[in-house]
Amino acid sequence: MLSATFIVVVVIVCIVTKSSYAYHFQRIITNRRSLQMIADGRVPLMGGNWKLNPTSTAAATSLASELAALTATTKGVDIVVFPPSPFLVPVNSVIQNSNVKLGGQNCYHENSGAYTGAISTCMLKDVGVQYVLCGHSERRTLFKDKDDGINKKIKKVLKDDLKAVLCIGETKDEYEAGLNQEVCAIQIMKDLKDITPEDMSNVIIAYEPVWAIGTGLVCPKEVAQDIHKYIRSLIEKKYGSEIARKIIIQYGGSVKPDNIKELMEMPDIDGALVGGASLTAQSFALIVNYNQ
Ligand code: PEP
Repeated sequence: MLSATFIVVVVIVCIVTKSSYAYHFQRIITNRRSLQMIADGRVPLMGGNWKLNPTSTAAATSLASELAALTATTKGVDIVVFPPSPFLVPVNSVIQNSNVKLGGQNCYHENSGAYTGAISTCMLKDVGVQYVLCGHSERRTLFKDKDDGINKKIKKVLKDDLKAVLCIGETKDEYEAGLNQEVCAIQIMKDLKDITPEDMSNVIIAYEPVWAIGTGLVCPKEVAQDIHKYIRSLIEKKYGSEIARKIIIQYGGSVKPDNIKELMEMPDIDGALVGGASLTAQSFALIVNYNQ
């Protein structure tokens, strides 16, 4: 009886003082999925992929600083933005001491040399980048990035102690032909070739059905859950159950403030990679703060 009273008092104090224990306690009692994620040590990751936007330093720094302000009290979620390369330095300067981390949209697998137009991981790291997108579908289709090159990028990202966000997913035709699992399996096999179990703690997978990217079409949450679960099972086969339980698998494809909550209720969806809706601070902050 005494200990029950003690627990109730502690919980009330936590809630009143808004401590992070209170945050986790609230999540646990409101969301069984969160309990599983916490048990597995997975913290949701929300990424904002700005692509070729915005078009000025002033607009980029204002977007980043507004986001930093709107997420100043966010807890229990990792946040990263991927600005265009010319804006990495100014964006980094406005997100210092905030909850927002910096990501690069692409990299090359060499450090330096005669590779006009390329950006290396040591350069990205030098300007404060912690995450790098590898194999985004726009890179695969528009810039002809192939799996062996993506694999080299991931190896270089990991060698330099950065986190690789590997983007995978099927096209509309492949989806309609029921080939989503096969496509993901092939991409994982090729893109993670020779990646060691030790390196896997720095790998994030973003499942992004190509037909849902920038189209307003969202993969039904049950279908997304099935494929996320399948991807986790592939990781389990390749790396074992502990790594599979810990790996973050994001969903990407027309994520908006009004659909994030239902996606995040799925037990194998661990966050989102967001394009269009990350270009206004308010909408991305609503996605980041989906649980509040
Ligand atoms: C993306 O760029 O990875 C993406 C998912 O874009 P959008 O959210 O606009 O569909």
